[in-house]
Amino acid sequence: AFDVLVIGGGPAGAAAAIYAARKGIRTGVVAERFGGQVLDTLGIENFISVQHTEGPKLAAQLEQHVKEYDVDIMNLQEAVRLIPGGTTGLHEVKLKSGASVRGKTVILSTGARWRQMGVPGEEEYRNKGVAYCPHCDGPLFKGKRVAVIGGGNSGVEAAIDLAGLVTHVTLIEFDSELRADAVLQKKLRSLPNVTIITSALTTEVLGNGERVVGLRYRDRGSDDEHVVELEGIFVQIGLIPNTEWLDGAIALSNRGEIEVDARAATSQPGIFAAGDVTTVPYKQIVIAMGQGSTAALSAFDHLIRSEG
Ligand code: FAD
Repeated sequence: AFDVLVIGGGPAGAAAAIYAARKGIRTGVVAERFGGQVLDTLGIENFISVQHTEGPKLAAQLEQHVKEYDVDIMNLQEAVRLIPGGTTGLHEVKLKSGASVRGKTVILSTGARWRQMGVPGEEEYRNKGVAYCPHCDGPLFKGKRVAVIGGGNSGVEAAIDLAGLVTHVTLIEFDSELRADAVLQKKLRSLPNVTIITSALTTEVLGNGERVVGLRYRDRGSDDEHVVELEGIFVQIGLIPNTEWLDGAIALSNRGEIEVDARAATSQPGIFAAGDVTTVPYKQIVIAMGQGSTAALSAFDHLIRSEG
């Protein structure tokens, strides 16, 4: 069995593996796709001390760094079930292949995925105007026009944030009213460069072959189609944590995120969690890495206290 078994090979899992391996303990990483969301990212400009990098390059460097240590990387393996071992037993993780891996401690870092609109052009223009993270890509649209899709808290927060950076923001909500907190809605409505469109279903991302040039939406009242000319579209209709496979094994929030405390501990002794899959506020690479490191140090602390 591993001393520390990490499930997930994104920034959180990579950081956890490095911190654990540096304690000289048996460390394994199971990952469906080593690199995680970073693989789907183009420019990264907020990975502190690195002015600019690109997702696939950072993902390769994460893997190289982990491989500097004696870490057993089980890539292209999907975890399908967690069986906690309680206070004394080994924790078991079943893989889709039928195999099982065990750990004295486990760190869950299976990340999250952005809910997509599923309309023509969205996939084609991803990273070419279609974006999901205002903290990451907002500054790229300075002086341009953007839309935010979604009028919940994250959509309205994104629209307020972007309004300070870009020329104009169109907020598009499917429902007949925004669902964000009243204080956010009030702030949004006070901004001069924001247009709010409700009862609107986005039907297509329009592009010129290279970049986004607009979006098409249908007015759900009149059924009329409209086109908004713009350069960017931020999709804010939900971030879904990859916790379906945990099914009752540990405590999740009402949004399906793994509940963790400041030490990255979950509801099960010896099981820790880090990154976008957890209740940690703000989903970012540096935050996932920081929490991954915390989880590994907590796992080590757990090991030295439980072995006698
Ligand atoms: P993830 O990166 O999601 O990694 C999860 C890992 O778990 C993957 O290896 C995955 O394959 C694996 N996994 C999932 N389920 C299972 C399973 N059942 N069994 C085994 N393995 C599993 N952040 C920034 O800081 N700056 C940016 O510029 C930036 N740009 C972004 C652009 C895009 C398009 C996207 C999508 C995200 C961006 N982010 C950015 C956010 C950032 O990528 C995430 O916050 C970060 O990757 C979270 O790391 P993580 O390790 O928690 O999860």
